[in-house]
Amino acid sequence: MSDARPEILIAGSGPGALEAALALSRNAKLNAAVTLISPQTTFHYRPNFVMEPFGVSHTARYSVGEIIRHPNVEQWQGTIDRVDPASGRAYSPEGDEFTFDALVVATGTEPVVELPPPAITLGRRGWLDAVKDVVTEIDAGALRNIVFTIADGPTWKLPVYELALMTADRAERRSDQQVDVSLITPEDEPLAIFGETNSRAAAALCDEFGVRLRTGRTASAFDGGEIELNDGTRFAADRVLTMPRLRGVAPSGLPAGEDGFLPVDQHQLVNETTNVWAVGDVTDFRVKQGGLASEQADAAVRAIEAHLTGGGPAEPFVHEIEAVLLTPNRRVSMRARLGDRTSESLPPEQLEGPAAKIHGRLLTDRLREVAEL
Ligand SMILES: Cc1cc2nc3c(=O)[nH]c(=O)nc-3n(C[C@H](O)[C@H](O)[C@H](O)COP(=O)(O)OP(=O)(O)OC[C@H]3O[C@@H](n4cnc5c(N)ncnc54)[C@H](O)[C@@H]3O)c2cc1C
Repeated sequence: MSDARPEILIAGSGPGALEAALALSRNAKLNAAVTLISPQTTFHYRPNFVMEPFGVSHTARYSVGEIIRHPNVEQWQGTIDRVDPASGRAYSPEGDEFTFDALVVATGTEPVVELPPPAITLGRRGWLDAVKDVVTEIDAGALRNIVFTIADGPTWKLPVYELALMTADRAERRSDQQVDVSLITPEDEPLAIFGETNSRAAAALCDEFGVRLRTGRTASAFDGGEIELNDGTRFAADRVLTMPRLRGVAPSGLPAGEDGFLPVDQHQLVNETTNVWAVGDVTDFRVKQGGLASEQADAAVRAIEAHLTGGGPAEPFVHEIEAVLLTPNRRVSMRARLGDRTSESLPPEQLEGPAAKIHGRLLTDRLREVAEL
């Protein structure tokens, strides 16, 4: 490494980008000048979203600047829409040019809406208000059939289970109607990414709270009164809430696949590049989750350190997922080791005190230090 400080650019401000910024700015060996570029200056703690329509919790918001505050880090509000890895340059749509020795792309995803309104697309602008309206209708005894669906393809599955459990519990406690809550999922077993033991636990929770599971299927149409599944089954549905498939939103100049995801190696290095790493939901890793985004960011930082300081081989991404499933009356810890196609359940952690929904080696503690907005 030359005497000049290395320049490291991070695109994004979700869990992957924030964990990378924390790890890079505190890395004394690198002593890098880090710039984080994102259109957002506020970090919304998404996991809490599922509780908000039920009035159980509010969604925590933090200042991105406050989270990453460190003499080695600068924040730039904007986007990177083009990257030229060969020259180590990235460009904003307005024509700003940034040079980098290493770039971390953590630009996330966008939903692909395959089940149009009147179905409610979860995770899309305005969805929280739509779910609150459903809760109001439950309380008024106006609904009899509520269906949650998960699209086939990469998506966030855990929050759909949480929402379905919360909805079924709400209906049981507040509605004077018999309300059927069902969950349609392409998975062969519920929450299969967490392995067999956790999957059985998820099935038992659905049973306990009265969520009817229909696995191995997806929804193909909803007309406002009936839902149709891909096997041709039709049944009554007053409201359908669907978690869409996700596609990656990577800047151009990188070898994104048709679905927008960036192919990476076990150190998060983007294929066909030597100086661009990608972490989190924008990568082609089969599971999308904030905790994994942070874990991948730590692996990318280890690889960047090895690359820029000429160090030995870095420890790769460890492929372990940790999650906390929120149910109406308890939090359930789920851990698994992820293979290319299969998952093996690991023993759950004992949950005491407030458990972080997004596990980040540095981010979890940092969010405890920073005041909410
Ligand atoms: C309701 C809900 C509940 C969830 N619950 C959990 C949970 O309990 N635990 C968990 O671990 N995960 C959970 N998730 C998933 C988690 O939120 C995502 O997996 C995680 O946010 C992905 O992090 P990321 O850093 O890859 O990308 P994101 O968080 O999507 O962030 C992408 C960032 O990149 C920025 N950006 C986009 N384009 C550009 C560009 N061109 N240039 C610069 N910046 C750009 C965006 O503005 C954004 O700041 C949940 C998601 C939802 C919707």
